[in-house]
Amino acid sequence: MELRNYINGKFVDSISKTNIPVINPANQDIVAHIDEALDEEIDLAFSAATKSFKNRILQDMDANLKSKMMRSIALKLREYKKSWSIILSKENGKTIEQCEGEFEGAANVFDFYAGLTDKIENKLIPSGKDSFNYVTLEPFGVSLQIIPWNYPIVLFARSVAVSLIIGNSIVIKPPELCPISSNIFGKIFSEVEMPHGILNIIHGYGEVTGKKLVDHKAVNQVVFTGSTEVASEILKRTADRIIPCHLELGGKSAAIIYPDANINQAVDSTIKGIFKPNAGQICVAMSRVIIHPKIKDEYMTKLYSKTKSLKIGAGDNEKTDVTPLISQEQLQRVSNYCQSGVQSGANLISGGEKYEEGNGNFFKPTIFDNVDPQSTIAQEEIFGPVISVFNFETEEEAIQIANSTDYGLASGVFTSDDHKAKWTADRIEAGVIWHNDWFVDGVNLPGGGYKKSGYGRDGGIDSLYSYGQTKRISKRIN
Ligand code: NAD
Repeated sequence: MELRNYINGKFVDSISKTNIPVINPANQDIVAHIDEALDEEIDLAFSAATKSFKNRILQDMDANLKSKMMRSIALKLREYKKSWSIILSKENGKTIEQCEGEFEGAANVFDFYAGLTDKIENKLIPSGKDSFNYVTLEPFGVSLQIIPWNYPIVLFARSVAVSLIIGNSIVIKPPELCPISSNIFGKIFSEVEMPHGILNIIHGYGEVTGKKLVDHKAVNQVVFTGSTEVASEILKRTADRIIPCHLELGGKSAAIIYPDANINQAVDSTIKGIFKPNAGQICVAMSRVIIHPKIKDEYMTKLYSKTKSLKIGAGDNEKTDVTPLISQEQLQRVSNYCQSGVQSGANLISGGEKYEEGNGNFFKPTIFDNVDPQSTIAQEEIFGPVISVFNFETEEEAIQIANSTDYGLASGVFTSDDHKAKWTADRIEAGVIWHNDWFVDGVNLPGGGYKKSGYGRDGGIDSLYSYGQTKRISKRIN
């Protein structure tokens, strides 16, 4: 287990001599202590990134060679996925199967961008017989990337892979609650002999190290995945320097279920959308259901019965459906939201409280019915296994409830009528809309937020324009 910061192509001994305990959310055991980077480590990381960028190592590299390097990272991620999933599960709480899926997902990201590396084409734009213009895609420079704990491996890959093929150099801060597994990238980058300085991994608390990173004068771009509150703070801290920020933030995603929906499909999608993977700690979790009364009884009966059969437990038990919340603080937060739901008059159908087993941060899958669309549990991101159910009469009312929060990340529509699905998708304010399913995803598909869920796009070809900027060269021919 490597517990040091990765700077300029190698893991380095701690200068700050401070470290962070990493706690297993299933039992409160300390998994390990990881080095905390402070001023000197941060300066070293930025100076390595700046030097590699100024030397144009990635920008001038043959695209075919760059593509091969990216492919070799994908291969290594697959080689290590079984052994490192055990570490990820311990620090993050997810099931081993989900952790393996995360490493596989990260490998797929590197494969996708390996394939795209030598296919990025520039544009030639005509402007009369005596001139021509061409437009190239250029990196920002030193890209600071900050990621959250809920999918630390796949989000690391998502931020880093596309950024590198454009030619940025990176300083990245993994989440303090789940930092260890991210060091696999340092190990792999060294093993496949990636150029030094293009990736630097800096560990630390957001409130301390995160702030110092954001304030560093060498930053040319910030890529932030995390909460809307922290994103807003980052925007304020970077405003005077006019640093471009790419923001992937929280959500309060709603599924609209029409009377002609396939109920079993809607119920199965709800279970996987909010309870099963990662106990609802997912930015695009289905945290709201807006359903027509005609089919509500059948949906609620089936949802209740399936919810009751879910097994709550630790991630190393292969029978577990609902894994622990990341921290005791998060457990308390989810618990407080449920109390506020009851106080607001919502009808608590199931759960609403901690699940007592050992020392784990377990929370019962929770269903609230007849929720006031303006109440706190209807408006705020809970980030746990809690769903709020609302009724609607008209299609316009369903859209109005779906769009009534500050967020706009994902959404869903369940109907057998394609016209109605399109009408609904056209009106929902969100970056991703699923029809008759939840979590249909792929590395070639773009995603991102509307409103306070952020801006910029990740995934697919679209993300090139969130991690790079265009430059136009206009030439007069004499
Ligand atoms: P968070 O905002 O608390 O922390 C995210 C990262 O920011 C961590 O690495 C943290 O150390 C760092 N950080 C915290 N305060 C900072 C500061 N003042 N300056 C700089 N860095 C700071 O979020 P979290 O609790 O780790 O993650 C959950 C949130 O992330 C949820 O809102 C979730 O919806 C969101 N999320 C969004 C996506 C997406 O793609 N849209 C994906 C995953 C998670």
